[in-house]
Amino acid sequence: MSTGAPLPQDFFAAFGAIEQVPAPWDGSEEGLWTLLQAIPDPEIPAVSLVDLGIVREAHSEPATRSAAVVITPTYAGCPATEAIRQEIVRVLKAAGVADLRVELRIAPAWTTDWITAAGREALQRFGITPPCTIAGNLPRALQFRPACPRCGSHRTEQISAFGATPCKALHRCQHCREPFDYFKPL
Ligand SMILES: [Zn+2]
Repeated sequence: MSTGAPLPQDFFAAFGAIEQVPAPWDGSEEGLWTLLQAIPDPEIPAVSLVDLGIVREAHSEPATRSAAVVITPTYAGCPATEAIRQEIVRVLKAAGVADLRVELRIAPAWTTDWITAAGREALQRFGITPPCTIAGNLPRALQFRPACPRCGSHRTEQISAFGATPCKALHRCQHCREPFDYFKPL
């Protein structure tokens, strides 16, 4: 999305935000990560903000029940960034974080290499082929033929450079003939 159009107020509701906080915060950093792990990405709700690699750091100060979270958006100026920040504030405050600071960090830039193994599995289950892990080698990454999420064949072709969202490309499997989304390496 790059139109700059305002997001609907129920942005997260429309994309399957969690309605209930899993458990009250116990004051630990591990507890922060557990809460953050439960927040889905607004554009790909099958994957959490943590597994997508958007949450970079989480720190706690148990004595004052305060916390600090560092996030890196998937691309600078991503219109979902503010919605993501607000959802983190909403969930952590509801879980009992008294004082919360959410810091936006844009350098180093987010890369698909930050998607966790669990995140890649979730993408695959959702029918999106996860990005190849050679994003740092662009010529090779562009030549890479992603496997079909249904039959696993690498006999695939790109139909369109853009799929349902700018981060995905539309491909088709030449083996089972099914189209599928490929999460582009970045
Ligand atoms: Zn196939």
